[in-house]
Amino acid sequence: MKNSIVMLGAPGAGKGTQAAVLVQQFHIPHISSGDMFRAIRKSDSELGRRVAAIMDSGALVPDELTIQIVQDRLSKPDCQTGFILDGFPRTQPQALALDEMLKNIGQAITVVPYLHVRSELLVERLSNRWTCNTCGSVYSLGPNDAKVCKKSDCLGTLYRRPDDEPATVTERVKVFEKNTSPLISYYSDRGLLRQIDGEQTVDQVTVALLAAIAKV
Ligand code: AMP
Repeated sequence: MKNSIVMLGAPGAGKGTQAAVLVQQFHIPHISSGDMFRAIRKSDSELGRRVAAIMDSGALVPDELTIQIVQDRLSKPDCQTGFILDGFPRTQPQALALDEMLKNIGQAITVVPYLHVRSELLVERLSNRWTCNTCGSVYSLGPNDAKVCKKSDCLGTLYRRPDDEPATVTERVKVFEKNTSPLISYYSDRGLLRQIDGEQTVDQVTVALLAAIAKV
């Protein structure tokens, strides 16, 4: 069966971590709008600088641009067998645009897992999140922990994403509550939402997630 999955959840809820597991399981592409914007911000261009400023403030990139880049990605042949969307949609106009673009390519969302984590825990998780600059592994570390990748074949240096700086983190969680949380009822009303306790261990969340997808 084809899996066309929309991962819903606040920043720090574990969408990216779980999406990586689903990629291994179902061999479908992981489409992260945040990763796409991180690639754009690296480019030495006016657009890159604009996107970087928006991301570092904790705000959302305008819908029009966001919808365009996701639409381009979803139209690629590798998405015909399904996909995992992570970080998109984040607003109601994006959700409506997603329905429209999927209709145009003869697809539909099969399930929307929603990873629920309390706001205070999200802020703590994001503030402690460190990413390896070599292999991309993500770690939760305290101020005194060594900022070196734990994988023995990597040992890359860890960095904090600019939008995980404490001042930006609180704003991102607020933006989720205001702009994205209405999508919970949007998908629930259509029978697609599966709420999962995102405060469990990574492995427990994976078990719950796979069970939710299997029941579709
Ligand atoms: P993420 O890695 O998903 O937390 O995204 C990082 C940042 O990229 C967000 O805080 C936004 O500034 C931007 N971004 C990612 N996805 C979207 C989206 N669907 N709509 C608007 N902005 C987005």
